[in-house]
Amino acid sequence: MIVVVGSVNLDTVVSVEELPLPGETVTAAGLVTVHGGKGANQAVAAARLGGDVTLVAALGSDSEAHLLRESLAAEGVGVDHVTSIPGTRSGVALITVDVHGENVIVVYPGANGDLALMDEARSVIQAADVVLVQLEIPMSAVVTAVRIARGTVIVNAAPARSLSDELVDRIDVLVVNEHERDVVYEAGNASHIPVTITTIGADGADVAVEGEIQRVPAPAVDVIDTTGAGDTFCGALAEALDRGEPIIDAVGWAAKAGALSTTALGARTAMPSLSEMLDHFKE
Ligand code: ADP
Repeated sequence: MIVVVGSVNLDTVVSVEELPLPGETVTAAGLVTVHGGKGANQAVAAARLGGDVTLVAALGSDSEAHLLRESLAAEGVGVDHVTSIPGTRSGVALITVDVHGENVIVVYPGANGDLALMDEARSVIQAADVVLVQLEIPMSAVVTAVRIARGTVIVNAAPARSLSDELVDRIDVLVVNEHERDVVYEAGNASHIPVTITTIGADGADVAVEGEIQRVPAPAVDVIDTTGAGDTFCGALAEALDRGEPIIDAVGWAAKAGALSTTALGARTAMPSLSEMLDHFKE
């Protein structure tokens, strides 16, 4: 069983010709509202592949909270430990994208910033075979989650932040992209993590096991939008490790899932199901 401890956001995406300068007003050509948040997206990615996933997260007490919870439940993600915090707003990401694909993102953490791990959530984290955490929630919740975990601990250091020694000591598998790796490694304390995976976009991922680096390629696909590729990778990795796959095989699976997720617009839209993966990559 996989437990994801992380964020849930409502993403509002507006598309503009050029990003506005400070003080400038521009008219958007389009607006979409989608459900996101790194924790929620990674939980959905694992569930679509058939993983038994429970999400530990915090929503606000606003009208969006109900819809955010329902869409997770509809994906087969366990939401018994997704709490609603009275008097708070659910997390929001305001995303402006221009015609060149450049973006500006403002995240209001809302309830994600108040995530505290209640006793019941602690029991489910303790019982998990795989615990997957990102850094879009308070560092205190991250550290608590990994310290009480008894299963395999995967930390996706996104958004990039340096990691405390207390956190580093309990990580089994660290997942970073190249930018996040630079930030994490600047602190100098991450070199003892048993497995570090650096995702490198179309080139796949580098897996460092006890210092030995192996490149795992990603399949070539027709890329439409890479948003959410990292989230898909992490969710698929957790799902494969939960099935008992060896690390290199699990990374190969995650790299394929990440690649397929880039073949349509949006983070969750193209996250593959198990049957899509089997169809697409049949021998
Ligand atoms: P992030 O979105 O966190 O920056 P990456 O861009 O490294 O992460 O993508 C994560 C994974 O998604 C990669 O390891 C790879 O498997 C897949 N992926 C991303 N971009 C592409 C691409 N252009 N072609 C094929 N696979 C891709």
